[in-house]
Amino acid sequence: MGSYDVVVLGAGPSGSTCALLLARAGARVLLLERARLPRDKPCGGGVTLRASAWAPVDVTPVVERTVYGARFSLALGPHFDRWHPLPLTYMTQRSRLDAHLARAAAEAGAELHDGEQALSLETGDGAGATVRTSRGAYRAAVVMGADGANGLASRWLGARETYEEAVALEGNVTVPAAIMDEWRELVGLDLGGLAGGYGWVFPKGDHLNVGVGAWKYAAGTLRGKLEDLCRRYGLPAGGLWGLRGYHLPLRRPGSPLVRGPVLLVGDAAGLVDPLSGEGIHMAFYSARLAAEVVLAYLAGRSPDLRAYERAVARRIAPELELSRHLHEAFHFAPPPYVALLSRSEHFWRLFCHLIRGEVGYQGLVQMLGPLRPLVRFFGLVARRRREVRVASALGRRPAASPIAERL
Ligand SMILES: Cc1cc2nc3c(=O)[nH]c(=O)nc-3n(C[C@H](O)[C@H](O)[C@H](O)COP(=O)(O)OP(=O)(O)OC[C@H]3O[C@@H](n4cnc5c(N)ncnc54)[C@H](O)[C@@H]3O)c2cc1C
Repeated sequence: MGSYDVVVLGAGPSGSTCALLLARAGARVLLLERARLPRDKPCGGGVTLRASAWAPVDVTPVVERTVYGARFSLALGPHFDRWHPLPLTYMTQRSRLDAHLARAAAEAGAELHDGEQALSLETGDGAGATVRTSRGAYRAAVVMGADGANGLASRWLGARETYEEAVALEGNVTVPAAIMDEWRELVGLDLGGLAGGYGWVFPKGDHLNVGVGAWKYAAGTLRGKLEDLCRRYGLPAGGLWGLRGYHLPLRRPGSPLVRGPVLLVGDAAGLVDPLSGEGIHMAFYSARLAAEVVLAYLAGRSPDLRAYERAVARRIAPELELSRHLHEAFHFAPPPYVALLSRSEHFWRLFCHLIRGEVGYQGLVQMLGPLRPLVRFFGLVARRRREVRVASALGRRPAASPIAERL
């Protein structure tokens, strides 16, 4: 049986970042990926500037477009364009980004086994864990669960069932050069027309990626909404190719992150940003926090991996909690926010600062001064209203627990 300091499950952005940082620091790392690389993954492939800042290597070799502006519409109504002098988001394709990151991890010294699926995780016989795969078994002091929204690790920790779930459906359209040119440095964002989500048009090197996201209960509406989005922007809905949907896991406070020698990062930890639907940002960032903690543990400077829980509680959870409140507040009544984006230069600049990572949600809310507590209050009220409305539409009773306890 092979033996390693760390076995990383999954070579997405979080897994390859963990593997690269740990291998670079001298740990013996096995990076297991069930698919053969390069592999694609349902994703818009938008890497915001704030996300790219945490990437373990330069991502520009796989960037196909750099975005400086956004074309906004409200529920497929009239649109307006907004521009920023500095880059906002890099556009890539996940097949390229993930292969680039996995290659960098292997070059840093991680042993990469693609086409090998982890089938089970066992702990109990002494320190460490055993991972059984489609090809063999490996022993490791630490296992990093970076295997995504539906992976083995989050189910093993009992985390998966604690997450709330959104879903997203994306596809591609090939369009004439004149249309490609129009979208060269621009994303389309249709806000307020989907339950808890939005529609997007993302430019790639030779095609456009289009997608829609929403709360899971609205999954059945997504195909029609995607076609409506295409028609609204003059894109050939009949020519959609590569259609794929997948989960967006949203952790709740208290969702488990560590059990014994196993910890969760990225989507496996439910770290998607509720407001933006972005997951790559926290995939990179949580991987960095986790790698630091694992290195301290392997060096004997830390008795266990619990420092990772504290790091997430301090540095990630407050951001995601505010994002959650803003998400609820936005979806309670989208038109005023879209009007602000259209009319207020200041509001648009704040949006850009957020996307570029120049300010976080906590910094944004600080700007409200004494009105800060209203964000949480309004987020909770909007959430309760939504829960009651959805439960009644589905013929169910709304959750009985007080909302304040549930956030
Ligand atoms: C339609 C859609 C669009 C999105 N668009 C964006 C976007 O534009 N920008 C953004 O920031 N986020 C976006 N997201 C979210 C983003 O895709 C995820 O948050 C991100 O991929 C999380 O990275 P990860 O490394 O944690 O997990 P993943 O990228 O899911 O990687 C997990 C890896 O683990 C592998 N794996 C799974 N099980 C096993 C196993 N048993 N053994 C071995 N390997 C295994 C998988 O094959 C996969 O390669 C989108 C999500 C969806 C669904």
